[in-house]
Amino acid sequence: MSTTDGRQVLRYADGGWAEAIAGHPALELVNTVSWRPDPERTVDRLPDGAAVARWAEFVGLDHTEPSAKTLGELRRLRERLHRVVQPLAVGGQPEAADVEALRRTLVRVVARAEVAAVVPLELRGKDLYDELALAAWHLLEREDARRLRQCAADDCGWLFLDRTKNRSRVWCSSADCGNRDRARRHYARRTAQQR
Ligand SMILES: [Zn+2]
Repeated sequence: MSTTDGRQVLRYADGGWAEAIAGHPALELVNTVSWRPDPERTVDRLPDGAAVARWAEFVGLDHTEPSAKTLGELRRLRERLHRVVQPLAVGGQPEAADVEALRRTLVRVVARAEVAAVVPLELRGKDLYDELALAAWHLLEREDARRLRQCAADDCGWLFLDRTKNRSRVWCSSADCGNRDRARRHYARRTAQQR
């Protein structure tokens, strides 16, 4: 599960990979869709329960294999969260209807969560779906929206929290999208010189 430069990655049969780059479990869930901005390349990395269990283990969450119903719920949660946080990550605002849909989903999970600690209040979900919904709740409740970012590569679409001091992070991974961008600019410069 690692590359030669020591990064932890989860490899897929099609040659793609996942890397935990988001800085938050709820955003790691959103990033289980690769290449969102390019419909021809978009891949859902959670096609079945086994893939979910593998991914959950990779990002350090409880990894019992979810049922088909839970898998459907998990994907719905992921898309609802994406519709709310993606606009914020590019300096916009989410649609009120999308915020409301996410609120309804999260309130249901909060309502059935167990109290793990009273002050400060800590809630515990009964399974992976509930834990990720609680993580989404915490993301909205506790994180700074100004640190939400979408990777600067046009086709990537991965979201992350920029936790650098001077808020200078632009790539999901400088070894991946950052490198591809450098290579592209290098190529553009070379072809320009040759003209
Ligand atoms: Zn990227």
